[in-house]
Amino acid sequence: MQVKPEEKFKGKGTRKCRICGASRALIREHGIYICKRCFREVAKDLNFKKYG
Ligand SMILES: [Zn+2]
Repeated sequence: MQVKPEEKFKGKGTRKCRICGASRALIREHGIYICKRCFREVAKDLNFKKYG
């Protein structure tokens, strides 16, 4: 069975990482809703300052 991440997190009020689905250490300051772990990966592309 295949489930697209986009559909999985479609509902509002989602408090899970959009990438891995984790709900711990979630970062939502910029409306990105990704966990700290994935943020480090994304930050590389977005040129964000290293978080933590
Ligand atoms: Zn994640």
